[in-house]
Amino acid sequence: MKAAVFHSPGNITCDTVEDPKILDDHDIILKVTSTAICGSDLHIYSGGIPQAKPMIMGHEFMGIVEETGKNITHLKAGDRVVVPFPIACGSCFFCQHDLPTACEHSNPDFYGPEGGIFKEKGGALFGYTDLYGGYSGGQAQYVRVPYAHFGPRKVPENLTDEQVLFLTDIFPTGYSGVMWGELKGGETVAVFGAGPVGSMAAKSAVLHNASKVIVIDTLQYRLDKIKKLTGCETILWEDAESTIEQIRDMTDGRGTDLCIEAVGFEPERSFIDKAKAVLNFEKGSIKVLEACMSAVRRGGIVSVLGVYPVNYDNFRLGQIFDKGITIKAGQCNVHPIIDRLMNYVETDRITLDDIITHRLPLDAVDKGYQIFDKKEDGCVKVVLDPWK
Ligand code: NAD
Ligand code: ZN
Ligand code: ZN
Repeated sequence: MKAAVFHSPGNITCDTVEDPKILDDHDIILKVTSTAICGSDLHIYSGGIPQAKPMIMGHEFMGIVEETGKNITHLKAGDRVVVPFPIACGSCFFCQHDLPTACEHSNPDFYGPEGGIFKEKGGALFGYTDLYGGYSGGQAQYVRVPYAHFGPRKVPENLTDEQVLFLTDIFPTGYSGVMWGELKGGETVAVFGAGPVGSMAAKSAVLHNASKVIVIDTLQYRLDKIKKLTGCETILWEDAESTIEQIRDMTDGRGTDLCIEAVGFEPERSFIDKAKAVLNFEKGSIKVLEACMSAVRRGGIVSVLGVYPVNYDNFRLGQIFDKGITIKAGQCNVHPIIDRLMNYVETDRITLDDIITHRLPLDAVDKGYQIFDKKEDGCVKVVLDPWK
C-alpha cells in the first residue's frame, strides 16, 4: 500500500510499504478514505519530537472497515467510521475515568524522561513516534486500529468525510479548551493561534455563547479567515507586550476570563539542515504561553492545547500563584466527548470543513507538509486522499 513515511526531520515521503495485518482480536483494519495533516505532525516533521526509525505518520483519519478481529462485534466490513487519535483500551483505570490519553495498556513501556520527576506510564497515539507507542498512523491507504471496540465511531450516511474528519482530533481538542474554561455564556475568551486548533477553539467559544472571542496570530491571512468564519475580533501579534495591552483594552483592563494556547512549542528550526535538535526556549511560542498567563484575568483559566515537550519546565509559578490562575493542559481525551460533538455536526450547530484550504493526493504528501509547515499559499488545513 501507499503511506506517508517519516524518515528524518523535513523528510516525509509517500512510499510503498507492507499492508497492515490484524495482530489482536480487538483490531480492525481500516481502508482510509480521508486523512489530514495536523500541527502536531509538524512537531515530528521539525524534529522537536524526535523519532529514530522510519514511521507511518498520521492520527487524523477515517474510512471504511475492511476486516475485523474476532472480538469486534459492533463493527463489520463496510461500516464507515471516524477514529479518535488516542489509542486506548477502554477498560483500565484511566480509560474508566475518561482519560484515554493516559491509557495504561496501549503504551506500557513509556516512562518519562531520564532523571525527570515523571515516572509514569503514558498513553499512545497513532503515528506519533516511539514515545507514544510506536503505532503506525493513518496517512496511508490502510491502517490497523487497535482496541477497535472502544475508539471508532460510525458516521451517519448523510455526512461527508470532510464534514466529520475533524472529530478525530482538532474539533474535540478546540472544544476541550473551551470546556476546561467552564463557560456559562457571556465570558471573554482569547485564543492564541489561528491555525486549525485555534480555529476550532474559536468556533467552540462561539458555540458556548462567549460574549467576546479574540483570536491572535502572527499571520494576517489566518486571522482574516477565522474572522470571516466566526465574527471574532482579531489581533495581529507583533510582540507580547502590545498583544497583552490590546487584550486588556478590550476587556475593561482586566484580561480575559479564559485564554486558550493553540500555538505549541516552537523549536529552533535550523537543525532541520543540521539534522540535530536544539531546543531553544527563547524562540517562538514559549512567549505565547507566558502571554496567556499575563492576558488572563485574576482567577481566570488558561487552557494549553499547544503541544510542549515533556522536558519543558519553564514555568511562571509566581505569577500563576499571585493571580490565582487555573491551568488545564494536555492531549485531548476525545473518546468521552466525540459522540456529543458528532451530534453538533449532525444538527448543524457547527461546521468543521470550512477551514480546509488544500486537498491533495497522498502521493503529494511531501508538498502537503511543506505548505502547511511554511504556511504557504494561504494554507490552513490540508486533507489527503490516499486513493487519488
Ligand atoms: P498550526 O501550526 O497550523 O497553528 C499554529 C498557529 O500559531 C499558526 O497559525 C501560527 O502562525 C500561530 N502562531 C505562531 N506564533 C504565534 C504567536 N506568537 N502568537 C500567536 N500565534 C502564533 O497548528 P495547529 O494544527 O493549529 O496546532 C496548534 C498546536 O496544537 C500544535 O502545537 C499542535 O501540536 C497542538 N495540538 C494539540 C492537540 C491536543 O490534543 N492538545 C491536538 C492537536 C493539535
Ligand atoms: Zn492532530
Ligand atoms: Zn486503557
